[in-house]
Amino acid sequence: MLDAIVIGGGPAGSTVSAALARLGYDVFLVEKDAFPRHRIGESMLPASLDILDAVGALDDVLAADFPVKRGGVYSWGKTTEPWMFRFGERGLGTAFQVERAKFDSILLNNARRLGVDARMKHRVVEILEDDGRACGVVYENERGDRHAVRSRWILDASGQARVLGSHRSTRIVNEELRNLAVYGYWRGPRSLELADVCAEAQSGDRNSILIEACRAGWCWWIPLAEEYFSVGAIVGRDAYQGRTRDGLKAFYLERVEETAYVSQLVQRAVIQEPIRSVRDWSYRSEKLCAPGFALLGDAAAFVDPILSTGVFLALNAGVAIAKVINSIALGVLSEAMALSWYENVYNAVYDDYAAMAQHWYFGERTQNSWFWRARRALPNDVPASFRESFVAISSGYPYSVHRQSVHVEMGPLTYLSGVSALGGMGSPSALRTITTRLAADLGLQNSADIEPDPDMRLALVPTRDWTLSFALVRPDGTGAMLSASDGERLMKALNSGVGSV
Ligand SMILES: Cc1cc2nc3c(=O)[nH]c(=O)nc-3n(C[C@H](O)[C@H](O)[C@H](O)COP(=O)(O)OP(=O)(O)OC[C@H]3O[C@@H](n4cnc5c(N)ncnc54)[C@H](O)[C@@H]3O)c2cc1C
Repeated sequence: MLDAIVIGGGPAGSTVSAALARLGYDVFLVEKDAFPRHRIGESMLPASLDILDAVGALDDVLAADFPVKRGGVYSWGKTTEPWMFRFGERGLGTAFQVERAKFDSILLNNARRLGVDARMKHRVVEILEDDGRACGVVYENERGDRHAVRSRWILDASGQARVLGSHRSTRIVNEELRNLAVYGYWRGPRSLELADVCAEAQSGDRNSILIEACRAGWCWWIPLAEEYFSVGAIVGRDAYQGRTRDGLKAFYLERVEETAYVSQLVQRAVIQEPIRSVRDWSYRSEKLCAPGFALLGDAAAFVDPILSTGVFLALNAGVAIAKVINSIALGVLSEAMALSWYENVYNAVYDDYAAMAQHWYFGERTQNSWFWRARRALPNDVPASFRESFVAISSGYPYSVHRQSVHVEMGPLTYLSGVSALGGMGSPSALRTITTRLAADLGLQNSADIEPDPDMRLALVPTRDWTLSFALVRPDGTGAMLSASDGERLMKALNSGVGSV
């Protein structure tokens, strides 16, 4: 029997497949399209690079020579004067702007190289169940020939199609963020540099993104190469209604012309056909996983693209699910506990990014208020200024389940996800009691140097060896990871009822 069937070969599907294949699991991936195929979502976050490295794809991504993104320029809200942030302000590196057709192919080829059996131009049409547990899929080729295949895990990475999610989990749409995106590509020389648009930008920032508010919503300018740009507009869902006569292209060009800066940046470039539109609704799934299945990437949730978070969330979910499956297979954790960790971590990240997006549109609309909102998302003990918080959150790092593995040594910034994983494991006071008793009475091996502390908490954290592990953490983020054997003892103690103390 297979270990995992993955539905969809986008960033979420390729990442979870590659991670599992690296760990020796048998993975079967079904993708309905032939690659390369077009996708929107071209601006990356720095934390994605770490994950690409972890699944063996970073060298190929670097070799593709995508333009380096140092940060973002915004013209938005009460002051239209453009301002800029850089990831480097907090030592958080850089990211890329990618042509998704190329990027997604690199990721999928990487998964194949690692042994994933990827079936292209096949569509999953049915989910098989055994006693209510997803146990396989039926997939068909373009001629309609059908095959059934069974597996321990069914992972839905089918993007907004939500093949499995649509049967198993209600989609909850954020009513305030129901938008429409209209976008196209331009070829030709740059008529301006970002440094001409924004006083804070330097020549090295020329491949950063520009986000500019306009009358109908906002526009993006994303350089994909020296003379190739992605330009799009996000407008309210009703804005295009009744405009079919003069067409999408006219509607799109009007939006671009409304801008002060984007229109100038593409002045000497030529628009390429086709102009495309896509639904841009923020939503989450009521349930992200259950025994035998999990939703990842856009199949799980979608956050408004204002902070360019989509691909990072997809990659992060891929790593998280690989750690969940590996932990369960190795017997490190029960399925229920590992899945509750995934649900909690994903929801915590989604809540923060959705709140940030909401504040972007409906808050005070000043630079300081976005920085302030970012600061609110980080735990109180993280010693960061408002601006630093914004930069950190925009990088993705505080939410990276790959970085969390070293959270004790890394200090407070990475404390967040570990602690958010507490839910579902008992009341905080019961956990405090357990932790104190375990650390003191059970003499946990590698926590001998930990003073039992009434505020110390037990967290589940992902580790670099692709499992989840327990850690004892103080509110200031210090503490220690537990060894696997201590984790087992802890589990036994929990299961034998210490949790009810
Ligand atoms: C307007 C807009 C702008 C955006 N900008 C950004 C940005 O700047 N940066 C960013 O990071 N993100 C951005 N995003 C989000 C980003 O596009 C997505 O979050 C990302 O593509 C999610 O990856 P995924 O792997 O979950 O899904 P996808 O990339 O959608 O991949 C899903 C795959 O599943 C396949 N599939 C579907 N149904 C089936 C089936 N029945 N059987 C088999 N295969 C199937 C599809 O063919 C597809 O290849 C933007 C989104 C929008 C709408």
